[in-house]
Amino acid sequence: MDASERVVVVGTGPAASAAAWALTRRGAKPLLLEAGSGTASLGLTGRLRGLTFAKFRRPLKHRSDLTMVGDPQAELLEELAPGGLSNHWACAVPRFSRDDFADAARAGEPYTWPLGYDDLAPWYDQVEPLLQIAGSRRDLHRLPAGRVRDHWELGPEWQPVAEEAGAHSRDLVAMPYAYGSRTILTRSATAFNAFTRLIKPLARRGELSVRYDTQALSLEWSRGERRVLAVRCRDTRTGQPVRIPCRAVVLAAGAVNSAQILLESTDSEFPDGLGNQHGVLGRYLHDHPLAKVVIDLGRRVPLAPASYLTRGSLERSDPLYAAACMQWNSASEMARTMLRGHPGRTSRIGFSLFGTMIPTPEDFVALDPSAANPHGRAALRFSLRYPERAIIELERTRDQLLACLRKADWAPTLRVFRVEAPGNSVHYGGTCRMHSNPRFGVVDAFSRVHDVKNVVVADSSVFTTGPEKNPVLTAMALAARASDRLHSDLNEGRV
Ligand SMILES: Cc1cc2nc3c(=O)[nH]c(=O)nc-3n(C[C@H](O)[C@H](O)[C@H](O)COP(=O)(O)OP(=O)(O)OC[C@H]3O[C@@H](n4cnc5c(N)ncnc54)[C@H](O)[C@@H]3O)c2cc1C
Repeated sequence: MDASERVVVVGTGPAASAAAWALTRRGAKPLLLEAGSGTASLGLTGRLRGLTFAKFRRPLKHRSDLTMVGDPQAELLEELAPGGLSNHWACAVPRFSRDDFADAARAGEPYTWPLGYDDLAPWYDQVEPLLQIAGSRRDLHRLPAGRVRDHWELGPEWQPVAEEAGAHSRDLVAMPYAYGSRTILTRSATAFNAFTRLIKPLARRGELSVRYDTQALSLEWSRGERRVLAVRCRDTRTGQPVRIPCRAVVLAAGAVNSAQILLESTDSEFPDGLGNQHGVLGRYLHDHPLAKVVIDLGRRVPLAPASYLTRGSLERSDPLYAAACMQWNSASEMARTMLRGHPGRTSRIGFSLFGTMIPTPEDFVALDPSAANPHGRAALRFSLRYPERAIIELERTRDQLLACLRKADWAPTLRVFRVEAPGNSVHYGGTCRMHSNPRFGVVDAFSRVHDVKNVVVADSSVFTTGPEKNPVLTAMALAARASDRLHSDLNEGRV
């Protein structure tokens, strides 16, 4: 194939893997660009029927070339390696619900997604089998049932708690996890590493190719052809510039790096970056406000399946404010239960409480031309703050969780409640948000940059708002949907 006829995908994380999978199944042979090295050895995970007994991974890195202009405690973490942050993730894969889209719409035009749950559901259906999910088959208002491979329900001891949760208009259900109940031993740091599970097998079959050590820096816009002609890159081993011609580009470098690539793609027609005619690019950055909670229960319960207390109903919450509780089930938890002589059963449980924040233009990533730029990409100005309202929601959710346990006749004692620094969830989104009106969004309903029809943004940077649910599954469904549309538009001459 002529190099300029290829679709180039930037990244090899979960979003890129879903985009690449969607393109290859239609016969396209995309080229994937990966900033990290192909030889990185990234860890080990051992699991026995859903219980993790071994996990080794290298530590996650903070991005250091940042000037903090919001909360000085804020963090930006990234993994420039095959698989991206799926070398670290917990594999929780809840669907967004109808309520999540309705909640955004009731907050007003700037927050209204240009698609709804029914538009996305067919792509959830297609992507979920790739993740070999263990989870509940109950289709709940606030957590739709996905295509689960292994059926999981919480044990009967949770039933009284679930009844109390209903009084707070919340559901209590087993959290869906990728490869959740599989017995596995894998030379990767998590049960589902997007690169190992999806991209490598496709590469082995010759259905795509990967170019490692290739950091995408910007896109080359042609005013004459009105499309992007190439990806400008840097070979990270030699430091030399590389130009990769393309027919179309799918950016899936993560919510910060995808925005950065567009910001660096300047031209006299786009002086502030490609797709940034209205100054939206890089803005509306959000992450999940996160609190860690540890509770002594006064009784023993199974570690797996892990429980999930959903958000409450829209009627009982302010627009765009909600929080949910996700029980931990880690190798260290498992080790603790073994040391105490009750393998797999615990009387102390921990939860991550993921809340929401209203995204605003005042939280952003922007280029910092004044800072040194030793590695080819510009340093960033970074602003991320949790509004006070978000913390109140986390506290309210903690109190409702404790009330549910108490009313169910458990004897909970709160041992830890800690609100983490902004960015600590590592669920960044919003920087290339999706909106039908370019005044409020960088991409359209098919994740295509407004006015740049051969560029798709395929990661959680396109989220218009950040519902309290973990982002990967939705990012993958959006990536597959966008890539399907891109492929048919290319084939039928609409791009
Ligand atoms: C500890 C932890 C636990 C988590 N748990 C969950 C969970 O349970 N569920 C969930 O949904 N989410 C979870 N997440 C978040 C999740 O990992 C990320 O949302 C997800 O990996 C983002 O996918 P992505 O493909 O958009 O980006 P990434 O995973 O960040 O991948 C980006 C890819 O692009 C490459 N890249 C970046 N810049 C460039 C460039 N300029 N040129 C070329 N390549 C580039 C990177 O090397 C990488 O391959 C967790 C995160 C962490 C850290």
